[in-house]
This record gives sequence, structure tokens and C-alpha cells, in this order.
Amino acid sequence: MTSTAQAAPAAFTTDDYAARMARVVNDAVKAGLAGVIITPGPDLAWLTGYQPHITERLTMLVLSPDREPTLIVPRLERGDAEESAAGPLLSFVDWMDGSDPYEAASTLFRPDAEFGISDAAWALHLLRLRRAMPDVSYRGLSDCLPMLRAVKDAGELARLAAAGAAADAAYRDIIGTRFAGRREIDVAADLAALLRQHGHEQIDFTIVGSGPNGANPHHEAGDRLIQPGDPVVLDFGGLRFGYGSDTTRTVSVGEPGPEVRAVHEIVRQAQEAAVNAVRPGVTCADIDQVARKIIADAGYGDNFIHRTGHGIGVTTHEPPYIVTGEAQPLVPGMCFSVEPGIYFADQFGVRIEDIVTVTEDGVQRLNNTSRVLQTVE
Ligand code: ZN
Ligand code: ZN
Ligand code: ZN
Repeated sequence: MTSTAQAAPAAFTTDDYAARMARVVNDAVKAGLAGVIITPGPDLAWLTGYQPHITERLTMLVLSPDREPTLIVPRLERGDAEESAAGPLLSFVDWMDGSDPYEAASTLFRPDAEFGISDAAWALHLLRLRRAMPDVSYRGLSDCLPMLRAVKDAGELARLAAAGAAADAAYRDIIGTRFAGRREIDVAADLAALLRQHGHEQIDFTIVGSGPNGANPHHEAGDRLIQPGDPVVLDFGGLRFGYGSDTTRTVSVGEPGPEVRAVHEIVRQAQEAAVNAVRPGVTCADIDQVARKIIADAGYGDNFIHRTGHGIGVTTHEPPYIVTGEAQPLVPGMCFSVEPGIYFADQFGVRIEDIVTVTEDGVQRLNNTSRVLQTVE
């Protein structure tokens, strides 16, 4: 068992949260918005450290250049909100069960203005806000401020590196265990346990796609018995210190056949080239294209059926997306996956995935296990 025991990184400070909120207000103004509305979920956690239960009771952070950051909160939860990391930075508007929080919220809005709103805001809340303030309009944050959380600060990068190291340790452990004759779900359960042992507090997915199941990139794990000779796609991740891991290796149970070996080598080259192309100023689409061209030139363009990658932070899938048409240039501090794959329906699939960070002059991998085709028992 490799040890990744590690002290928790220093907690984010109120200065960190103040800087994030200021950045959002600044970006919102630049995008022509009167402000942004943040409901509970990843955006609120990132901006304030506050993670209430997500319920039908309205909790909503309003950020705008006209006022202090203001949290509308049910009265019974006000104490918890005040104690959150960013509590000292917020002013509070509480509301009592039986009163109309949307009316209370309407005092915070400029009429005829446009606000950004969290993608994950419940339709219930948005529809009632609309009824209370028919003159205000809304845009989803992923449309108007897609790069809101995309550039990570030093504390975030340290957490992402710690999550990546733990996922690597889980991989090194799992390849020493038996695969042949066991069900995918048993290997998946072992992977989840290893991620927890190595410090993850939350497991988001443990894909074990053996043989034909590997051809479905979103196959999770089933009761198929893993066979000698199977290639097995292992794609797993979760949160450590609040930040995500996500890595994939495709292993072979016993000696791989020539086709698996050849396809794995193409995916390995595509992944390597795409990672090496990462540097500031290159666009997301460019990185996708580097991987896609190598796979297409080898004759498997139609078998690479997904984008090359996705951002990662307080969630395991977020902007920037490394995809055709995404003209966003890379900026130091962005973190995302590079995960090309080749899939043959009903036969097998191969994917290799690492999380990388854009540095001032290039790239750093946050996953560092061998990408050579690994044989397991
Ligand atoms: Zn993955
Ligand atoms: Zn991924
Ligand atoms: Zn994923």
C-alpha cells in the first residue's frame, strides 16, 4: 500500500473568498450583467465555503457591483450561513417559513436588468423569481461566465495535486489485485475503498469496463465476470479536500492480443501529444484536434466518440471543455483532463486519462502512473 497520508492543505481564508467574489462581480460587469445569482451547489461552495442542503427553501447569493455580497437564507439556517468561511464578508436577508422569499429577494434586484444564474438553480426558484420580478431577465452562468471557476489559485492547485496523487496510489494498488474471474462491481468496490484509504472523502465514479463493456465510455460496472485476455478500462475519481480526481488506465488481463496492443499504443500517442501541446494561449479546440488527428490518421477517427477532456475543480466535470469549436485559450492555472479513447462496439475500448494543469510555460501532469499497457492477473 503506497502511502499518501498528507496533512490537509491550509483552509481557504476570507481573503481567498473575497478575491473570488470580486472576480465574479468584475467578470459579470464585463459580460454586461447587473450581477449574478448563486444557488447552493459547487458555485456557492467555491465562492463562500457554504454548502447547505439543497432544498425547496430559497437560499441565494446575490453578487452585484451595487451592493455588498448578500445571502438570502431561511431564518433557521442563518446561523450556519453566518458561521461559513465567507460569513464575515456577507450581509444577510433572512426569511421565515410562511413569508415570500422571492418578494424579499426582489428588493435586491434592479428592474430591467439581466442577471447570471447558477446552472444548477432549481426551475422552481427561477420561475418564482420571474413571477416576483417580471422585468428581470436571466442567463445561465455556463453561457455568460463559463470560465468562472476555471482558473485555479495556489490552494486549489495543491488540492487537485493531492487528489491526483491519491488516485494514482489507488491505481498502483488495484493493479496488484486479481481481476480474472471476479465481477466488475467487485473490482469497482475495491477501487472505491482504495480511493477512500488514500484520502478521498467522496467517490464520484469507479468505471470498470471489461471486454465489450469497455466500448461504452459511460458503462459504470456490472456483474460481468472479467475474463483472461480482456482489456479493462478503469476510470475513477472523486473528491479529496473538496477537489476532484479523475484518471483512466486501460489494463490487460494476461497478455493482450495484437489488436489491443496496437490500439492502446495509438491512444497513448494521442494522449501524449495532446498533453505536450498544452500551454498558455493554445485553444481548447487545438488540444482536442491534436489528439483527434493522431487517432484519425491511424484510421480510427469514427471510433473516438467523445470530446478530449473537461475541466475539474470542486466538481469532476466543469469548464473548460476540450472540444471541437471551443475557442477559449488556455490560461495558467486551468486544470482539465486529457482523455482520448478508441471504442469498438461489442468488442472493447481503450482510454487513457490524466488531469493536467496549464503552467506559465507549458503543462504539468497531476497523474503520473505509467501509461504503458499494464498486464494484470
Ligand atoms: Zn475519467
Ligand atoms: Zn474525465
Ligand atoms: Zn469523467
